[in-house]
Amino acid sequence: MKKPYTKETICIQSGWKPGNGEPRVLPIYQSTTYKYETSEQMGRLFDLEEDGYFYTRLQNPTNDCVAQKICELEGGVAAMLTSSGQAANYYAVFNICEAGDHVVLSSTVYGGTFNLIAVTMKKMGISCTIVDPDSDYDTLCKAFRENTKCVLAETIANPALVVLDIEKFAKAAHSHQVPLIVDNTFATPINCNPFVWGADIVTHSTTKYMDGHAMCVGGAIVDSGNFDWSLYPDKFPGLCQPDDSYHGVIYTERFGKKAYITKATVQLMRDLGSIQSPQNAFLLNVGLETLHLRMPRHCENALKVACYLENHEKVAWVNYPGLKSSKYYELAQKIMPNGTCGVISFGLKGGRSAAEVMMDKLELAAIVTHVADARTCVLHPASHTHRQMNDEQLKEAGVNPDLIRFSVGIENAEDIIADLEQALAAI
Ligand SMILES: *Cc1c(COP(=O)(O)O)cnc(C)c1O
Repeated sequence: MKKPYTKETICIQSGWKPGNGEPRVLPIYQSTTYKYETSEQMGRLFDLEEDGYFYTRLQNPTNDCVAQKICELEGGVAAMLTSSGQAANYYAVFNICEAGDHVVLSSTVYGGTFNLIAVTMKKMGISCTIVDPDSDYDTLCKAFRENTKCVLAETIANPALVVLDIEKFAKAAHSHQVPLIVDNTFATPINCNPFVWGADIVTHSTTKYMDGHAMCVGGAIVDSGNFDWSLYPDKFPGLCQPDDSYHGVIYTERFGKKAYITKATVQLMRDLGSIQSPQNAFLLNVGLETLHLRMPRHCENALKVACYLENHEKVAWVNYPGLKSSKYYELAQKIMPNGTCGVISFGLKGGRSAAEVMMDKLELAAIVTHVADARTCVLHPASHTHRQMNDEQLKEAGVNPDLIRFSVGIENAEDIIADLEQALAAI
């Protein structure tokens, strides 16, 4: 048997496989709809009896090629693109939860995800218990209830940079018969494959490193195919019991390991419609072609910047899982031996006010509500992305009020450090 391709080759070659005389580059299928010869053929598509495209709100060939590439990078069995990372996490959870159900949520997840689950989904009747990702196994297990349907956490939390013990979380989830959903945005599949450590579903904000150029908002969901829904038909009725809107199809029976992604596509995309535009999927694909080249450079630069900051007299603390001083260093070495991400966080001895002065002085590093792209950028979460949280919630989310999130780009590290040097001199 031929050896499967390595990630580097998948980044370049997977997804679009042109036939003889077809375009070398993935085309943008800029079409809302698809033509059929007979009315009966079209009918079979609506009954899910045949695989095929009928309307771009559900599926589009450009998107599917890009989803396939991400699927292979993660080592999954099926994947889909969504319009944003928010939509990806929403669909990933809502696909198996309904009113009356319960989610176990890591306290350090991205602010948008925290709001989605703890505030918005609560209004939909879905409750959650928030857990400290560093809790020991027994404490973690106490968060589960009879109606718990999934656990959601991030490989590397944005912006707390807490590294998740995926094995511990997977064990706790599985011992309560529910899947572990891991948002792998910051690590990317280049640095970590959560499925290897027991995660069942992976989500991404492709807006970050995958796109890598801050061009398109997007998301992705990948299923490992490892969680056997059919063992718990009462827990997961949406997957294991007939769907009346498709003549009683039972997803686990008809689609096997692709049940979860198929349901999210034909039900959630149909009804909620957060499809990624094919144009954005095309650009995402271009980004993915260099993901394997960019990630090592992000990590190399971030380590240099983190070491520089750690030795600076005006810096109070530096948090980067690649630093030996990080309490996540060993865990990061285990699950991400080639590097973690390009994002670091730090605080100044002068606190919040010094942070504001310094940020305004930066020239190369731009103040933007973004993270994880080719250009170095900086943000003060307490004043920006997390400003809806009070001090208590900030603490739980692992975000100090003085925390500066510094997203190290792929410029020359010396230039980034020189920029920090002059800005720190001003305080
Ligand atoms: C940015 C981000 C999201 C939300 O993604 P959008 O593409 O902005 O909707 C979710 N999770 C993580 C870890 C993120 O960094």
